[in-house]
Amino acid sequence: MLLGVTASMGICMAQQFDEVTYDREKTVFRLNAPAKARKVVVRIYEEALGGTPRHTVTLKKERGKGMAAKEGAALWTGCQEGNLEGMFYTFDTGQGECPGTFAKAVGVNGRRGAILDLRVTDPEGWDKDVRPAIGSPSDLVVYEMHHRDFSIHPSSLSRYPGKFLALTEDHNIEYLKTLGVNAVQILPSYDYATVDESQPDRPQYNWGYDPLNYNVPEGSYATDATRPEVRIREFKQMVQALHKAGIRVILDVVYNHCMNIAGSNFQMTLPDYFFRKTEKGKGASGDIGTTGDDWANASGCGNETASERALMRQFMLESVKYWIEEYHIDGFRFDLMGIHDIETMNSIRREVDSIDPTITLYGEGWAAGAPALPDSLCAMKARTHLMPGIGAFADEMRDALRGPFSDDHQSAFLNGLPGHEESIKLGLVGGIKHPGVDMSKVNYSKEAWAAQPTQHVSYVSCHDDMSLVDRLRTSIPGIGTEELIRLDLLAQTAVLTSQGIPFLWAGEEVLRDKKGVHNSYNSPDSINQINWEHLRLYPQVFQYYSGMIHLRQAHPAFRMGQADKVQRHLKFLDAPSCVIAYQLDGQAVGDSWKTIICILNANRTPQQVSIPQGKYTIVVRDGVVNAEGLGQHTGRVVTVPAQSAIIVHSS
Ligand code: CA
Repeated sequence: MLLGVTASMGICMAQQFDEVTYDREKTVFRLNAPAKARKVVVRIYEEALGGTPRHTVTLKKERGKGMAAKEGAALWTGCQEGNLEGMFYTFDTGQGECPGTFAKAVGVNGRRGAILDLRVTDPEGWDKDVRPAIGSPSDLVVYEMHHRDFSIHPSSLSRYPGKFLALTEDHNIEYLKTLGVNAVQILPSYDYATVDESQPDRPQYNWGYDPLNYNVPEGSYATDATRPEVRIREFKQMVQALHKAGIRVILDVVYNHCMNIAGSNFQMTLPDYFFRKTEKGKGASGDIGTTGDDWANASGCGNETASERALMRQFMLESVKYWIEEYHIDGFRFDLMGIHDIETMNSIRREVDSIDPTITLYGEGWAAGAPALPDSLCAMKARTHLMPGIGAFADEMRDALRGPFSDDHQSAFLNGLPGHEESIKLGLVGGIKHPGVDMSKVNYSKEAWAAQPTQHVSYVSCHDDMSLVDRLRTSIPGIGTEELIRLDLLAQTAVLTSQGIPFLWAGEEVLRDKKGVHNSYNSPDSINQINWEHLRLYPQVFQYYSGMIHLRQAHPAFRMGQADKVQRHLKFLDAPSCVIAYQLDGQAVGDSWKTIICILNANRTPQQVSIPQGKYTIVVRDGVVNAEGLGQHTGRVVTVPAQSAIIVHSS
């Protein structure tokens, strides 16, 4: 059996990175390393850390060819006889030891590659695992979660607190199904650097935006990080259990930067290739040893990768394909996608389409600083229309609802402040050009940036920044619980009736807070964990979220999926200040409801809105959802209670 040969989904790719091929008689090592390297060796150990090499193999340089050769690399190969299963290895190109750029199994803390047969990591029935079907990305309701946040609090009653396996437990799966989400987006779950996997009993926390090995699951989420096969198998068990429940798995991928340059597998394998330099850095003499301001830093983490370079682009392509094929991943969320170039993102879309066009791709269409690449080439939000089939997070509606990213104390629509209506309307149509949206009044964009509504990720909160609860408390001083709940539900009504891809941060449905912490990337569990006792305290909040999700999924009018349909069949109605009213033509898009009218009222008083004369069934009013109906309404005027949404339909 072979390690390093991709699984059985019929894709043959030209592997451009390190490859370790194991069978019982021998293990073959291949590495694309600098053609000019003096020596490249593999060291084989019995231990994942420490010890002395059992074998040292000097790799032989083969004649360079193909993409790698053009980039200054040559293929170095070697072989060690004997059965090396269970052993560990490192490559050394003269920069120190590392597991290579494309290790598929590693030892504890990811410092050495592991030699194993990947097929023994497949759980029973893995060959029958299938991707839950969707019609379009706007059919998804994405639930963004961190493994530890989700199941570490005692109230989660998980047998595997903080682990991949928590998402195989019946009560957790049942919870997600009851809520109604059909995709989880898991925070970085590849092997990252900061949590010490050798100390599983010590509480440690990190979001995981510090990549170490991109193609191996993180060890601290496994029940045993010291056995390389365990994290791989348990990750697959998680995917399998979610798929059985009809829930897709979207991976948060952070190809835009590494934990650091000097210790990175990229730099140790092919120095000075994978990272962008500043103008000053480009002028520095010598390849190695440049530091500090020589390196571009659009990630805000000290470095940025160079997706426009052939091998970095190829790395992202092969990595995405590997997660799809080996782990059956259904979608990818690209961290700081604006650092990547448009051509790379489009080539990933093309490759993924050849496997399954329903695999979802979206990302953050921005960066933490200006990338060292011409702006016109960067995959920024404003250029989403140039990247068909790739979405971006929408900050227009998010900030128009809750207030700007730059100041937690400022509020917006939710606090009854006028002037934010058009930005929210842009979010409701899914970021596309629409006759009912006055772009001159939109906060951040003066032109519609999505070609299709399925390119617009609609949200009001995510792991970044404050939770919605904390934001409401901070931006509306003195807010009481009742008002907070009203506004929370109003905000998520906008998200869950948007024609884009609705996106919820886990725990918002039980009024999760983070004690006011904005950037909780390494805060303790006491800040980040979801206290599920809130479910008992605020059942009406969960019921509303769940009700709205099910309403969306039962009614295609909320997720038309195509720009021309949204342009024709979503119409805004005249409304007072701080009220947004819109009408969906359900009949035209195959909905069982003929006409649907949604009205969002952020005022502290009830508001009246004129609607077409008709007889309507009320399905959402004053924080309550009931698809069967909460009562009837007849006439040309509807009154919307304060700080809440109303949805009515004619049959
Ligand atoms: Ca790790």
